[in-house]
Amino acid sequence: MKAPAFDYLRAASLAEALSALAQHGESAKLLAGGQSLVPALNLRLLAPEILIDLNEVPELKGVSVENGRLRLGALTRHSELERSALIREHAPLLAEAIRHVAHPAIRSRGTIGGNLAHADPASELPACAVALGAELVIAGQGGERRVAADDFFEGVYATNLAPDDILVAIEFPLAAPTRRHAFLELSRRMGDYALVGIACTADYAGGALRDLKPVFFAAGPRPTLAVRAAEALDGKPLDSAALDAAVEALGQDIEPEGDLQISAATRLHLARTLFRRAVAALAPEAPLARKQETAA
Ligand SMILES: Cc1cc2nc3c(=O)[nH]c(=O)nc-3n(C[C@H](O)[C@H](O)[C@H](O)COP(=O)(O)OP(=O)(O)OC[C@H]3O[C@@H](n4cnc5c(N)ncnc54)[C@H](O)[C@@H]3O)c2cc1C
Repeated sequence: MKAPAFDYLRAASLAEALSALAQHGESAKLLAGGQSLVPALNLRLLAPEILIDLNEVPELKGVSVENGRLRLGALTRHSELERSALIREHAPLLAEAIRHVAHPAIRSRGTIGGNLAHADPASELPACAVALGAELVIAGQGGERRVAADDFFEGVYATNLAPDDILVAIEFPLAAPTRRHAFLELSRRMGDYALVGIACTADYAGGALRDLKPVFFAAGPRPTLAVRAAEALDGKPLDSAALDAAVEALGQDIEPEGDLQISAATRLHLARTLFRRAVAALAPEAPLARKQETAA
């Protein structure tokens, strides 16, 4: 199928893009990498009157370290997340996760801003943004505001963005030398959307994990920080008994649904298995017996 007819504006600045959005309201759509938007147009799931192309907006570009934070312009391509030495140094979780997102051709166009704005619950980057404590910089008619990643994702394809908002940049705290990360996902084939996945960061010292941020994706309508499982481990001597208790607590944190691919019970079982593997990857020194989850 072909996309329905639309007008097209290539914005040359953030001000021009914001003013076009204000003028056209909900009949406009922003175009970044087009890797989610264009398929939706071709399937006629969307029929905007005008596309506002962001690709030449300079304010949305660039990877830099500013004021002690790693700042990624919303137009930063997935392929740059793979290649950038700055990103590998300061947010290595992103560099690891991005290899699981689609395929090289899609990664050469897709952008981090488009990915986060699209808010697919099975997407890898939203979970990474929450696990890393990222802040989203948003421009709207009232000026600029900042939203914590954990408050940005509101549901399936739903975010805190108003129709006349533009996501400008994503800022990440610089990874401290003590900070560890783990990223795991299960999908039918490499590059497919996840059946379930986890992005996790933590400190490990004195035999205990601290400030553990295990964030699940494809396990609910939005990326979910497993608060109770994290509390069950935080600051406690990490051994098999502590891990078993955390895995048990995980059942109160996430309530995955079933779909055509797997049942809800299998998805929870896989989430528990991934959680065990993530903790073992974060703390390979810890005395953890290899235990497999029993499928429900
Ligand atoms: C075959 C295939 C497989 C894929 N597999 C995966 C996968 O495994 N994991 C995954 O996460 N993704 C996957 N994707 C999606 C890919 O990551 C997209 O690139 C991404 O979701 C959207 O980014 P984009 O830059 O292409 O945005 P676009 O498609 O251009 O836009 C997506 C949405 O975001 C809005 N938007 C874009 N930029 C902004 C902005 N700066 N401010 C506000 N709103 C904005 C648009 O208006 C639109 O609603 C896949 C895509 C394809 C085609």
